[in-house]
Amino acid sequence: DNIIDVLIVGGGPIGLACGIEAKKNNLSHVILEKGCLTNSLYNYPINMTFFSTSERLEIGDTPFVTTNPKPRRAEALEYYRRVEKKFDLKTHLFEEVLSIHKIEDTFQVTTTKSIYRAKNVIIATGFYDIPMYLGVPGEELPKVRHYYDDPHYYANQKVIVVGASNSSIDAALETYRKGADVTLIIRGKEVSPRVKYWVRPDIENRIANAEVKVHYRSDIISISEREVVVQTPKGIINIENDFVLALTGYRPNFEFLEKVGINIPLKAPCIPDHNPETMETNVQNLYLAGVVCGGLNTHLWFIENSRIHAHLIVKNILKKRSDS
Ligand code: FAD
Repeated sequence: DNIIDVLIVGGGPIGLACGIEAKKNNLSHVILEKGCLTNSLYNYPINMTFFSTSERLEIGDTPFVTTNPKPRRAEALEYYRRVEKKFDLKTHLFEEVLSIHKIEDTFQVTTTKSIYRAKNVIIATGFYDIPMYLGVPGEELPKVRHYYDDPHYYANQKVIVVGASNSSIDAALETYRKGADVTLIIRGKEVSPRVKYWVRPDIENRIANAEVKVHYRSDIISISEREVVVQTPKGIINIENDFVLALTGYRPNFEFLEKVGINIPLKAPCIPDHNPETMETNVQNLYLAGVVCGGLNTHLWFIENSRIHAHLIVKNILKKRSDS
């Protein structure tokens, strides 16, 4: 029949791990990815370095070799592309899943290109598609960015970077080194303790030398073409500005999960309903895998600790099959 055993939504590292696990256990599979292969990683900043060492990013028992202490984005793209090829996964790229309906015991999955039927569905859609917006007037201006790519673009420009985590601190340091005039706007009292340990002294020294300016306990009130209005502990100030990099985090697509029928608590961190032992959601035979499982708590899961989801899920599928 043309009913797929395991249909996977999302071609990130964990979606691929699920495909490998299905294939190893002789279950038919298809991976549907709305963008390019490992789309989230592709959209990371061009110079990004992982906080994980390479062996912690491995899937399918395939070594990830690098001579760097921590792998870079380009290396990770190369690694996952080679792994996808090695296992000859059925990955359909640039095909977005629009809806998933349960019809009796099977799922009907509608995409931008086709319609599939599957016995089991795994949602491994990550959290990198939707930014946490500032919610201030002027945020819609083209000079405001929620994704940061390459520092050269910001040479000689007045750049405000919002946020205190890795994305913000990397962007502040990189753009500073390409000649941008950088001001950090940080809501709390300090640079996040989660900032990569080897990056922290660099940002602290740049701040101490006033090479990167910073306003702690501060929030942007509004943004206009030429300036940004900021609430600081000392009062409201206006900062002359060309670009705003609002790198204040991302969130899973809760609307998509809800439409599929997954229960999501109203209260933060809004962790989508699932059994942590099997990863099955409140919808029978519908599973969650990867960082999407953390809801708003996007630091809960990463590649190292969520690769195991692929094993848990396939184990559960096989068990149900042998029980029936
Ligand atoms: P993703 O990699 O996000 O994959 C989800 C995929 O689903 C995406 O490719 C997306 O395009 C696709 N998708 C979404 N909706 C649909 C749809 N409707 N139809 C079809 N496809 C869809 N983790 C680490 O372990 N180590 C690190 O060093 C690390 N560094 C990070 C740095 C940054 C800047 C960020 C943002 C995250 C970092 N993470 C790191 C976390 C990292 O994102 C995840 O660990 C990893 O990408 C999770 O893989 P995933 O497969 O769960 O999700």
